[in-house]
Amino acid sequence: MTTAFLEGLADPAVLPRVDEVNRGHFEAAARGSLAVRECSGCGLLFHYPRPFCPRCHSADLAWTEVSGEATVLVAALVSRPPWNDLPRSAPYVVVVVQLAEGPQMVSTVEGCAPETVVAGMAVRAAFERIGDLGIVRFVPS
Ligand SMILES: [Zn+2]
Repeated sequence: MTTAFLEGLADPAVLPRVDEVNRGHFEAAARGSLAVRECSGCGLLFHYPRPFCPRCHSADLAWTEVSGEATVLVAALVSRPPWNDLPRSAPYVVVVVQLAEGPQMVSTVEGCAPETVVAGMAVRAAFERIGDLGIVRFVPS
């Protein structure tokens, strides 16, 4: 399966703040890979990146690249952009997806009519590169 890359969606003025806790996720996304935290203590995979495992509180964590396959749990249609000069056009859809490996994440679904995105829809990760970092989004699979 080819990796999908997207562009023109994120507002360069409000990019995620990259730090030592989350850098691995954003650097992997820039390479077209979805990386989540894996706890070396209990094996839990989790996202968003935190400095400690949310289950066993271990700080012994690694980055694990997952498949990018996911299912939409919740979809919300954004009809009006949150600010006037948002680069992307509205409407668009914000989702919570569950990755095939378990973790959930908030993102958007691109590459289809926003109103067609519903709970239960199968999606796969796609990546928007902005400089050294990447943003994980999803497209229909
Ligand atoms: Zn753990």
